[in-house]
Amino acid sequence: MIEIKNLHATVDGKAILKGVDLTINAGEVHAIMGPNGAGKSTLSYVLAGREGYEITEGSVTFGGQDLLSMEIEERAAAGLFLAFQYPVEIPGVSNTTFLKEALNAIRKTRGEAPLDAMQFLKLIRAKAKDLSMTDDMIKRAVNVGFSGGEKKRNEALQMAVLQPKLAILDETDSGLDIDALKIVAEGVNKLRGPERGMLVITHYQRLLDYIVPDVVHVLANGRIVKSGGKDLALELEANGYAQFGVTEAA
Ligand code: ADP
Ligand code: MG
Ligand code: MG
Repeated sequence: MIEIKNLHATVDGKAILKGVDLTINAGEVHAIMGPNGAGKSTLSYVLAGREGYEITEGSVTFGGQDLLSMEIEERAAAGLFLAFQYPVEIPGVSNTTFLKEALNAIRKTRGEAPLDAMQFLKLIRAKAKDLSMTDDMIKRAVNVGFSGGEKKRNEALQMAVLQPKLAILDETDSGLDIDALKIVAEGVNKLRGPERGMLVITHYQRLLDYIVPDVVHVLANGRIVKSGGKDLALELEANGYAQFGVTEAA
């Protein structure tokens, strides 16, 4: 599904990723943990194609294509989903309209006919119901006035509607409470399946009590320094990151 090889990236001339190797196969859920400043968000931004990140070495293959040479829209059309890539708030644009445009843009690049308003409404209502979201939430302007938990539920809705091949979630928010953690987990767990890969980047061991990953990686100093099964998360909780020769940045 995705194969990251010896990936090096710099920001403002500063080396952040220093040789990341990571392969995720279809059907697998991987978690990346690591101390603050390790480069976790940088990795997700590089995969998203965000500006300002220079790839100095390495390669990323996604579904057999060279991901790093693709435009952001091409990445989405190929089935890559990054939760934070979608705008935080869009006043005046309803969730339904926004997601219909996003889905139809993806369908268009795949040569598929767009869904009309009725077809889309049927789809989004079914997905919203699955996630216990009210009709009101899908009609409201995208994320405007949403609580933290509602935003998380909305992210889960975006994933459910767009049905990505690979979903990457960077759970940066240190304010994620237990309800929000459960919502993220519910969204991820609903999408688990044999054709889909998931990468959950998190600081919280606790999230992994709800999303049980197949593989856990530790990212430290711009490299994956350890990989293991779900128990690795528990070990990190107990022993911290000092064993990798790093201390938590302030
Ligand atoms: P993490 O998500 O693991 O906490 P980040 O990827 O956000 O780590 O950051 C990794 C390192 O890159 C940090 O040392 C951070 O200060 C640095 N960094 C991130 N963005 C920039 C930037 N725009 N300019 C300079 N340094 C940056
Ligand atoms: Mg950070
Ligand atoms: Mg981060």
